[in-house]
Amino acid sequence: MSSIVRSTQRLSAVLVFVLCACAGTTVANVNAGPPRPIVGDTAAIRTLVGRLDLERYKATIKGLTQFGDRRQGTDRNRAAVDWIEQQLKSYGCTNTERITYDYQPPAPAARPAVRDSNAAQGGGRLRGYRIRTGVNTDSLAQTDLKLRALNSQPTTPGERQEVYCTKVGTTHPEEMYIVGGHMDGHGWGEAANDDGSGTALVMELARVFSSPDVQTDRSIRFILWNNEETGLNGARAYVAQRQALQGKENPAGSGKYPEPRWLGMIQHDMMLFDHGMPLPDHTMRKEQRLEADVNIEFQDSSTMVEASQRLAWQFARANDKFATDYPATVGQHMTNTDSTPFMNIVPSISLRENERGTQIGAGWDPQWHQPTDVYSTYNDQDFRLGLNAAQTTLGALGQLTGATLKK
Ligand SMILES: [Zn+2]
Repeated sequence: MSSIVRSTQRLSAVLVFVLCACAGTTVANVNAGPPRPIVGDTAAIRTLVGRLDLERYKATIKGLTQFGDRRQGTDRNRAAVDWIEQQLKSYGCTNTERITYDYQPPAPAARPAVRDSNAAQGGGRLRGYRIRTGVNTDSLAQTDLKLRALNSQPTTPGERQEVYCTKVGTTHPEEMYIVGGHMDGHGWGEAANDDGSGTALVMELARVFSSPDVQTDRSIRFILWNNEETGLNGARAYVAQRQALQGKENPAGSGKYPEPRWLGMIQHDMMLFDHGMPLPDHTMRKEQRLEADVNIEFQDSSTMVEASQRLAWQFARANDKFATDYPATVGQHMTNTDSTPFMNIVPSISLRENERGTQIGAGWDPQWHQPTDVYSTYNDQDFRLGLNAAQTTLGALGQLTGATLKK
């Protein structure tokens, strides 16, 4: 018995040591900090959520589809960046800026080693019936001749740009949340869902927060990433160029912070289609499943996992409070989107129609990177899932940044 007591004591000592070591690491990180207090005015946030509208959200997605698949390194992609910037300005988010970077496609890599065929990207396992996934590169697969022509210019290496604008906080302009979606697509469709749906969501939030009667304590940056589809290159360029500028007042004494300190990164990617698992005959249900949900993911293996989880649950609570139709589900497998380059620096989450690794990776979205990812594929139940994600993020951001309405 005494030996058991002694070993228990030894174990306790080891545990205490381990816990102390962990706590020390967290405190040392400037971006980890304590959870941000909920300071928003619930009645005001409800009013702001009410300013989101299904028809407006659809119209913004439709506007993005005029540029075809918006593939990076093409005129149609550059025209889409210009159009997004004009829209942001027209919403009153007038302080638009651009990140400029160079993109050179890497040499084709050797095929990766064969891995466990049930292992999903980002963690977790693929289960159940599947549909093959991949990127369509065959122009002839697009049967709409007008759209085929619109998408025909090939990509060329070189300079790239992506645009953002910022709602400046009144009492804490030096701190911000980054809210993103990627505006580039591929596959010879209209990139309506991937990621017109996330891009339009971010743009609609910029519209609502930029209304002259809205005030927030903290800042919010609305950014539409480019080159997500080639390996998150636009988000990586942003981190490389701006991480070190965080929280610096410039010019000194001006009260201006070109790069407010990052409090969190919230990404939106593929927001419309949750028709469930493929059926046994490898086809899909025709309608949004009745149990459709918004998937909020953090990454279990990231160094910011504790703070990212807290952020994810804050979003889930905001969904309970503010989203009208569809619930939110939190998962630990965030992967393959622009929040990844941030996840070891600041709390980072993504919102999606399904889990990216275990579900979309198993073919739950048959339009993914295909010629069928066009506006006319989706109906109002699909668009409404994206709207509910917008309500979720707007509600959570309103709480985290202290949104109020001017009297
Ligand atoms: Zn995407």
